[in-house]
Amino acid sequence: MARAAVSGRLTWRVAELAEVTDITGSARSLVFDVPGWPGHLPGQHVDVRLTAEDGYSVQRSYSISSAPDGERFELSVQRVADGEVSPYLCDVLSPGDQVELRGPVGGWFVWRATDQAPVTLVAGGSGIAPLMAMIRTRAAEGSRVPFRLIYSVRTPEDVYYADELRRRAREDNGLDVHLVHTRRSPEGAPPPGRLGLATLNTHAWPADFAPNVFVCGPTGFVETVSDIFVALGHDPRRVRTERFG
Ligand SMILES: Cc1cc2nc3c(=O)[nH]c(=O)nc-3n(C[C@H](O)[C@H](O)[C@H](O)COP(=O)(O)OP(=O)(O)OC[C@H]3O[C@@H](n4cnc5c(N)ncnc54)[C@H](O)[C@@H]3O)c2cc1C
Repeated sequence: MARAAVSGRLTWRVAELAEVTDITGSARSLVFDVPGWPGHLPGQHVDVRLTAEDGYSVQRSYSISSAPDGERFELSVQRVADGEVSPYLCDVLSPGDQVELRGPVGGWFVWRATDQAPVTLVAGGSGIAPLMAMIRTRAAEGSRVPFRLIYSVRTPEDVYYADELRRRAREDNGLDVHLVHTRRSPEGAPPPGRLGLATLNTHAWPADFAPNVFVCGPTGFVETVSDIFVALGHDPRRVRTERFG
């Protein structure tokens, strides 16, 4: 894997889009087949490169949201309204179309199923993508490591993989899911508000348990949340962050 990861970082591969589905009104799941794909660890990302006919080329990073599955993997892309790449991936790219990508990238923001420490996952918006890979890998490997997911979204309609998360919270032993709504809550749920110290103190594993903490989302969100974990006494080396900004 280590050798494959190094060569994967350097090699641009041709990936073919196999399936597209809506995740929310503004996010899509893109499943790619990548011949020669060396495999990935949950938490890693790929760089996607698009090249126009005149040679103009742009690239962006996207986390893999699926568990390892041979030469196939899923990306979960949020459409940024005035963005250059994400609207193309969400609205134009169709099954059978090809893009270039390289990876898997990243060796720090990864969860290994052999690590028995409890895990706290904190996602803001599309930051759920690499954490979903961890949740799905945990299930695929039959791991009993206790996971707690705290997921901040604007409204109930913005929850990625809502049905799957509800099902997994019921069926995957040891997976706890807590949603925080920042703009509008569902009926009967607590009023909307930002994710803060009280929520993390209540729903994350306490520092005494020496959990692995993974925080992913927009830069401001990640910085606020990781500062709170450190203030709560967590070892900063166990608080791993991925910024989408
Ligand atoms: C390691 C890594 C992993 C990532 N994984 C994912 C992923 O799994 N899913 C995903 O949807 N994105 C992910 N991103 C973000 C992604 O790389 C792009 O930044 C994003 O898709 C916007 O690109 P764009 O070309 O559409 O917008 P751009 O043309 O780059 O930006 C257009 C405008 O939108 C603003 N903007 C840029 N990014 C965001 C954002 N994320 N949210 C709100 N406003 C933004 C910019 O400031 C600018 O004003 C990841 C980023 C990194 C660094």
